[in-house]
Amino acid sequence: MFAIAIDGPAGAGKSSAAKAVAKALGFVYVDTGALYRAVGLYLLRNGVDPRDESAVRAVLPRITVDLAHREDGQHVFLCGEDVTDGIRTPEVSMAASACSAIPAVRSLLFSLQTGMAERYNVVMDGRDIGTVVLPNAGLKIFLTASPEARAERRCRELKERGTPVDYAETLADVIRRDRQDTERAAAPLKPAEDSVLLETDSMTLGEVTDALVALARERMAPHG
Ligand code: C5P
Repeated sequence: MFAIAIDGPAGAGKSSAAKAVAKALGFVYVDTGALYRAVGLYLLRNGVDPRDESAVRAVLPRITVDLAHREDGQHVFLCGEDVTDGIRTPEVSMAASACSAIPAVRSLLFSLQTGMAERYNVVMDGRDIGTVVLPNAGLKIFLTASPEARAERRCRELKERGTPVDYAETLADVIRRDRQDTERAAAPLKPAEDSVLLETDSMTLGEVTDALVALARERMAPHG
């Protein structure tokens, strides 16, 4: 199996690029943020503070998260319910970011991610894929962009989904989430030493995708 790990902060364009690369190569795209979002959604629905480690640990045994890959992309299930659409709100983003700092949450979701990479050629995006989840990935990418460019992209994405949000608020959320994700002790967001860094501020999605596909083909060549 060949794995491509794409890490980076929120809104750097990871998911759009990862999806396009997976399509070009015939790989399965795994969006690991969706797993943390599903846990965040459970906590919100059940009135559990995502920052309260002992409260979160107490409910973890009741949470099951599963993934399925269909024609229209990845679907995420929370305790058997398809929550694919319900996890894309700013509230769920913040809850996901907060609970993802808890090691027990990370271990709950770990084998689901490694299991996918054992069964399929994957393009997996997240925060710790190259550093923790798939340290032996054949290609590791760290995608980044300025907070302003990322907030703009997030706004555009949410508007397209029919849930427009305020730019200033989104920018503040992006900065807060960056801080939460990079400063946490458990699997903080950072580039793997052997990753290729790509700064995407002035690149189109097509340019990012072409660059990644070319890198992947280069790395895969020795594998036949
Ligand atoms: O990528 P996305 O914005 O959907 O991720 C939501 C949150 O889940 C992130 O802010 C991050 O805190 C967490 N996450 C993580 N590790 C991953 C993927 C996401 O901690 N591999």
